[in-house]
Amino acid sequence: MISINNVGWFEAEKPVAGPFDAILRPVAVAPCSSDTHVSHGGAGPLENRILGHESIGEVVEVGSVVKNFKHGNRVIVNCCTPDWEAPLLQDGFDNNAHDYGFTASFKFVLGKDGVFAEYYHVNNADANLFSRPMTFPQRLRS
Ligand SMILES: [Zn+2]
Repeated sequence: MISINNVGWFEAEKPVAGPFDAILRPVAVAPCSSDTHVSHGGAGPLENRILGHESIGEVVEVGSVVKNFKHGNRVIVNCCTPDWEAPLLQDGFDNNAHDYGFTASFKFVLGKDGVFAEYYHVNNADANLFSRPMTFPQRLRS
């Protein structure tokens, strides 16, 4: 999304993984009505923001302390990616409430670039990525 009511392609920097994070390239993405809503101004005056928040991806890079994923893993990514280390989440509270803000875990598009990109960033990779069977793409093609 270049600006409100102006959706198109633009060049963006490859995101950088922090120690808990991963960088993915999309394998499959699902445009959603929320992307349309945002593109018409529903999330405020965003400019040069990459849309998309629902994806299957391939891991291309992980942060230094990520344990469960590595380069080449294909993973499912939830549209909401909470900061699981946050104190209130550790106490069992929802990431979209209290001190964190109404949409705090909805980071793609609202808080950072989304998944309709050559590469995209996922915070807290060990908690926000999910393994999936490697045979899934072959089933789609048959
Ligand atoms: Zn959606």
